[in-house]
Amino acid sequence: MDEQTIQCPYCGASFTALIDWSDAGGSYTQDCEICCQPILFRLELDALGGPSHVTVDREQD
Ligand SMILES: [Zn+2]
Repeated sequence: MDEQTIQCPYCGASFTALIDWSDAGGSYTQDCEICCQPILFRLELDALGGPSHVTVDREQD
């Protein structure tokens, strides 16, 4: 587990999220701590398959 500061794509608040890199290469949703909207987390891998960075987006349906 890794802590990353992310910015909510709905309300713009920054908060610290725990990232579970066992899901790396995939995505999952986690509710914003501030506005409780579902944030889509995408876990990006580097060229060696290790943890690279996290991007966040609004959940699409
Ligand atoms: Zn929010």
